[in-house]
Amino acid sequence: MLTTEGNTMTLKYFVGRCIFCGMCADTCPEKAIRITKEFELATGNIFDLYTDIEHEIKACSMCGKTFISKKLSNKIALKVPDMPQETMDLCPDCRRKETLKRFMGVPE
Ligand code: SF4
Repeated sequence: MLTTEGNTMTLKYFVGRCIFCGMCADTCPEKAIRITKEFELATGNIFDLYTDIEHEIKACSMCGKTFISKKLSNKIALKVPDMPQETMDLCPDCRRKETLKRFMGVPE
């Protein structure tokens, strides 16, 4: 489950539902997931099977809506160094509107 509160996005991963199919490892673009035989599901407390993964998120400089983790934003900035910072700071909706305004002369 993915939730957002303030400037933090939390992925709540429950390993109790994992069937160890390996699809996440196969499809992860960052190769951040690896399936191994090193796991332990035996526990007397079901909450031991939850892991919270938290990321700080960035808010759009125009509308204030949160839209991307800072970590991912920084990674994109490294891969696309020519993208202006003011464009990087816009959410997809505001970026689309700004691009239309700039190239098509569409009024607000
Ligand atoms: S995709 Fe990954 S997390 Fe989901 S069930 Fe398969 S191995 Fe488990």
